[in-house]
Amino acid sequence: MTNNNKQNKRSVGFIPYGRQSIDNDDIKAVVNVLRSDWLTQGPAVKQFEESLAKYCNAKYAVAVSNGTAALHLAYLAADLSAGDEVITTPNTFAATSNMLLAVGAKPIFCDIRLDNYNLDETKIEKLVTSKTKAIVPVHFGGHPCNMDKILSMAKKHSLLVIEDACHALGASFKNEKVGGIGDMSVFSFHPVKSITTGEGGAILTNNPKFYKKLAHLRTHGITKDEGGFNVMTALGYNYRITDIQTALGISQLKKLDKFVKARQKIFDIYKKELAGVKEVFTPSLAKNSVSSNHLFVIRTKDPTKRNPLANFLKQNGIGVNFHYPTVYSHPYYRKNGYKDVKLANADLYHNSCITLPLYVTLEKSQIKYICNKIKEFFKKV
Ligand SMILES: *Cc1c(COP(=O)(O)O)cnc(C)c1O
Repeated sequence: MTNNNKQNKRSVGFIPYGRQSIDNDDIKAVVNVLRSDWLTQGPAVKQFEESLAKYCNAKYAVAVSNGTAALHLAYLAADLSAGDEVITTPNTFAATSNMLLAVGAKPIFCDIRLDNYNLDETKIEKLVTSKTKAIVPVHFGGHPCNMDKILSMAKKHSLLVIEDACHALGASFKNEKVGGIGDMSVFSFHPVKSITTGEGGAILTNNPKFYKKLAHLRTHGITKDEGGFNVMTALGYNYRITDIQTALGISQLKKLDKFVKARQKIFDIYKKELAGVKEVFTPSLAKNSVSSNHLFVIRTKDPTKRNPLANFLKQNGIGVNFHYPTVYSHPYYRKNGYKDVKLANADLYHNSCITLPLYVTLEKSQIKYICNKIKEFFKKV
């Protein structure tokens, strides 16, 4: 941990919204792979997949080059294609629905809840048509969606549930770890996420058919025939992850529970410090779940105060961010069929949200500094 502290000290003066937490064991694990015979397609990839599946209580894991590749493969494995509609949330990173467009499917955006900013499970059913094939919930900020409601509705209408769980490694819904719940769950190991491999991602599933397809498409859709010759039987990609990255992942995974606890503590301090600030809303978590606390998002009650507050915090060295502008508000979506989409809660959220810094090594004094600056802002305006 001394290593982490040193790295933190170096960046004093600016507090980023997220960052990795790397210690000497992580560094050693990577160096060991560099000295071994396998830089890619070796034993570390398999070991990482097994550890990940075990942690999430899922049967299979397929590790890939990043979370976006993982989404792409999951949608391909689910056979989503032109003419299919998929219900998802507008409050997500664009990749969630971009990869639907990549396979030809049509994202249908469902409005969100204003307590935890997840898609509103009570508004999904109205969007189901004869073309609907799947629901893609995103566990926003690491707070699990209401999976009971989503799974029962999916069953009623014969829909697949593919979770974008990129925020939620380490989270659970009713004592079930996210990753082992829906038909497939997608993770990212970008440096701001629960654990990191630099770039990296994975798909978890309990379904052997999906598992086989995912593994096949990850490597060009090529397998070896009985004579040992390469045969290509599906249009695949090179979405492989390296042993260098997965060695880091194995080492990071051992610390995941510690990371989640540290993030929970930070979340609780924010909640306490901001409890008296009547100009902002803070997120509230359903009692039946454990969040991985990926993000801490506040909302200004008066949306016109959002940009001035964000600018004030930036001027004071605080790396605020916006998670997320509604996906349909992006110029690409507006130009390609989503010109008139309006969703009341999502639009309000879009105009009032600010993400505050949250990462494992963020110190209590830094959190207090951030919260004091928020209070200072509202005293002035
Ligand atoms: C990070 C993230 C992704 C994409 O993951 P990459 O590894 O950056 O490709 C997709 N969806 C969500 C919700 C994310 O947070």
